[in-house]
Amino acid sequence: MRNFQSISIDINEKTAWVQVGATLGQLYHTIAQRSKALAFTTGVCPTVGVGGHFSDGGYGFMSRKHALASDNIIDAKLINANGQVLDRESMGEDLFWAIRGGGGASFGIILAFKVKLVIIPEAVTVFNVPRKLE
Ligand SMILES: Cc1cc2nc3c(=O)[nH]c(=O)nc-3n(C[C@H](O)[C@H](O)[C@H](O)COP(=O)(O)OP(=O)(O)OC[C@H]3O[C@@H](n4cnc5c(N)ncnc54)[C@H](O)[C@@H]3O)c2cc1C
Repeated sequence: MRNFQSISIDINEKTAWVQVGATLGQLYHTIAQRSKALAFTTGVCPTVGVGGHFSDGGYGFMSRKHALASDNIIDAKLINANGQVLDRESMGEDLFWAIRGGGGASFGIILAFKVKLVIIPEAVTVFNVPRKLE
């Protein structure tokens, strides 16, 4: 799916269409280029692919506040076994529910996900607190 890498962001709507061959790193980077106040809640490793990760769940640093990647999917495009391209409306809510955590490959080939972006602070402080056993 690596040729399906396009990411289009709607800043006003705070949403993005992400094709499944994009990596998490590409998604993070593309959002950051457009806005310092928006992000997406997904996994830690930048080389992981959107296709398997979003359809499996997708847990990362922001999940305690913003839940999983799959909780923030609002639409998808999928090819079913008959070769039909379906979106959320035409696939129906049962199939749309199943591809958000049940693993994509069981149900069809997902081409893209539409996701809801999350609002983040522009400055983030990261620190370590080293401790010894004693
Ligand atoms: C280095 C590393 C770090 C990770 N970090 C995290 C993390 O921080 N948080 C977390 O939650 N998980 C993490 N994972 C797990 C990762 O989310 C899963 O391995 C995920 O399934 C990877 O998806 P992929 O598309 O890259 O892999 P693939 O192996 O390509 O796909 C995984 C499965 O999804 C199916 N699939 C892929 N694309 C599609 C598609 N378009 N349509 C239908 N089915 C599809 C494949 O058939 C396969 O069954 C990590 C994995 C690695 C290797």
